[in-house]
Amino acid sequence: MSEHTNREDYVVSAIAAGGHIRAYAATTRAMAEEARVRHDQSPVVTAALGRLMTGAAMMGVQMKEAAGKITLTVKGDGPVQMLTAVADTEGNVKAYAAEPQAIAHSSNGKLNVKGIVGKGELTVVKDIGLKEPYVGTTQLVSGEIAEDLTYYYAVSEQTPTVMALGVLMNKDNTVRQAGGFMLQLMPDASDELAEDLENIVLALPPITSMLDENETPEEILEDILVHFGYEELEKKPVRFCCDCSREKIALALAGLNKYDMLDLMVSQKEVEVRCDYCGTAYTFDREEMKTLYKKFHRAGKDDRKEENKTEENGEQ
Ligand SMILES: [Zn+2]
Repeated sequence: MSEHTNREDYVVSAIAAGGHIRAYAATTRAMAEEARVRHDQSPVVTAALGRLMTGAAMMGVQMKEAAGKITLTVKGDGPVQMLTAVADTEGNVKAYAAEPQAIAHSSNGKLNVKGIVGKGELTVVKDIGLKEPYVGTTQLVSGEIAEDLTYYYAVSEQTPTVMALGVLMNKDNTVRQAGGFMLQLMPDASDELAEDLENIVLALPPITSMLDENETPEEILEDILVHFGYEELEKKPVRFCCDCSREKIALALAGLNKYDMLDLMVSQKEVEVRCDYCGTAYTFDREEMKTLYKKFHRAGKDDRKEENKTEENGEQ
């Protein structure tokens, strides 16, 4: 492996054509590989999740809000069932697949991403620190991820977008390359500019070829934007990073209804909860479970009492 393929993950952003085009390009090999190792994923799941993480990383970097967070969830009727990736504005990305070992038949030797995804929906949740996050759901148009995100932008945000996402695997099933780019036309862009950009995009080699040639994000942006007078704005490191903690997992446990919690307490010496996103296991012994139970279910905050009363009344 060359030095190049071991570079750290990052997203480069740029503007072009006097600000009418916003552009992002990413290299994400390390995060795609980390997801593969953490979740013990099949190659095609690694490709699918790697693409989704790459999209999320660029969309996260695009958000301006300091505490912004974006969650992309793909739910389909294929064997992987669900893929989800979360990115924040600081370049932290976490992701997992519901069925990490999913596989799909491939007739051409390529990783059949749409075969494991199937038909379904993409949901984008943008949390920009307001009370209510922005939520948009669109149909999956291909299950190949990039087209699905492009369609989301067209329908939900009325922003013409070109996105290309790619993951290449080594023969030993480790990730060889991962990355992509995203181009967006601002509302005031002329039809002529849109056409020029379209022609350039259509003439580009596939993203997997660009990645396989070891093109850096800067080089990919140069290929696309060289005729548009572009300016590189920022190079932001991105990485696989989960923000789970004992406290957060404890809160999730405490969020169970009291009967499930009681059941866990009487049936198990300790309760192990694994973080879906990173696989870290947290264990809570009986004393800790009791403390949680008392704190959340006994101090007069019990909203189940009303329900119990109704049930009792119903039996009379
Ligand atoms: Zn975690």
